[in-house]
Amino acid sequence: MWLKMGISSFSALMFNMMNPQRIRVRYAPSPTGFLHIGGARTALFNYLFAKKQGGDFIIRVEDTDIERNVEGGEVSQLHDLAWLGIVPDESPLKPNPRYAPYRQMERLDTYQTYAQQLVKEGKAYRCYCSEAELEQSREEQMARGIVAPQYDRRCLHLTDAQRRAFEEEGRKPVIRLKLEDHKTFTFHDLVRGDVSFNNDDIGDWVLIKSNGIPTYNYAVVIDDHLMDISHVFRGEEHLSNTPKQLQIYDYLGWTPPQFGHMTLIVNEQGKKLSKRDLSIVQFMSQYRQLGYLPEAIFNFILLLGWAPEGTQEMFTKEEAIAAFDPQRLSKSPSFFDVQKLNWLNHQYIKALPEHTYVSFIEPFVQKALAIAPTDLSHDQVLAVARLFQEQITFGENVIDLMKPILAPSRDWDEEAKAILALPETPRAVEAFLEELSRLETLTPESVKALFKAVQTTTGIKGKPLFMPIRLALTGQLHGVEMAALIPVLGKTLTIARINAL
Ligand code: GLU
Repeated sequence: MWLKMGISSFSALMFNMMNPQRIRVRYAPSPTGFLHIGGARTALFNYLFAKKQGGDFIIRVEDTDIERNVEGGEVSQLHDLAWLGIVPDESPLKPNPRYAPYRQMERLDTYQTYAQQLVKEGKAYRCYCSEAELEQSREEQMARGIVAPQYDRRCLHLTDAQRRAFEEEGRKPVIRLKLEDHKTFTFHDLVRGDVSFNNDDIGDWVLIKSNGIPTYNYAVVIDDHLMDISHVFRGEEHLSNTPKQLQIYDYLGWTPPQFGHMTLIVNEQGKKLSKRDLSIVQFMSQYRQLGYLPEAIFNFILLLGWAPEGTQEMFTKEEAIAAFDPQRLSKSPSFFDVQKLNWLNHQYIKALPEHTYVSFIEPFVQKALAIAPTDLSHDQVLAVARLFQEQITFGENVIDLMKPILAPSRDWDEEAKAILALPETPRAVEAFLEELSRLETLTPESVKALFKAVQTTTGIKGKPLFMPIRLALTGQLHGVEMAALIPVLGKTLTIARINAL
């Protein structure tokens, strides 16, 4: 076998064995919006794949859709990824000179170079058709019963004279790819297995628009190749773009990366998650504002279309990297389970060290102070917020939980009225106030002892003892433990609220 192989292919084999291609993946956001769940998932899976194998994770900004780009889109996407802990090895802000620039609008010359080469080789051509002419051709085809009209190739064989005439008319050409007729492209998708597409279903499409800006399907190939991208994990919506891209790889004699197209994310009704779906919070910045922790979102997104081998549900970043295996990417749509997200966030909040929880909850303390008039100081509100660490599912939750304590309602329902009307209530309240006035330091323990003492001296216990105090301090019959709350409110406020019953 070795003899048959020949020296040069043998040494190529040895070279490949000794220098396996470096793993390089990219997340290629278009700054036409802010980072949403789908984008974050694409970024995360690429990132984990690279890190698992000691490769590079790159962010390339695909900003060629200039009309749709939004102010601050790039900056916020990079910021939100960093918030999630998805840190690129290369990006517009961290360029590797060998591959820079990392924004497509800064690479226009490169796209021109290869497009000209394709034109010269007869694999692409200049097309001068106007929008109106294209539209007319589409309509004619549809009238003939063609469901998916294609470019009719009327500019494929223009003579130099015809071209000159168009240019003299002031027409600016696009560059179109000339597809190989009847060609089938088959590739092995890392998620779906073998996939085939036939060129007959695709028309000659535009590489470079008349304004000199490339289309996505063209620029992505040039960049992925020149940036040595080895694997591409991206959304299912790009599956049908792949044959278009493969035609260019083929024409330029380049080896394409390996593709993996992740399945859709669907809502409870099984419908594709769309940015307009109001039932699900979509954007990272919204999650941050609501008080979701990046670790929880990271963990949740990890399980959105990927499953570990065992039953583990909570993963740190390091554990996720170690466990990630693209073979376990789901082949069916991934259900966006809000309950699961909330459960995870709850777990991560519960586990926060005290000082981290304090800084995490501070913005919500501020917000509560801004919306609810209260006789509590900032520090007291913060202390109240700390009572809820084990309870909240996300930061903003704390505001609703705190409201009754910040400004207790005196709008009693029937049950509350009945408690306050109990014959024991006045005696219990009086004894409580008396014991309280004697107490030097308020701690959960001393407050518990205080209730015990009232119970012993008055013989009143249970509901008639606790409920009137609870109603006075929170306006509610249920909620935080009195022993935890009273030390936070302090003596003066506790007495004032009880007197205001
Ligand atoms: N800019 C494309 C997008 O945002 C990237 C697609 C790709 O990964 O090839 O969908």
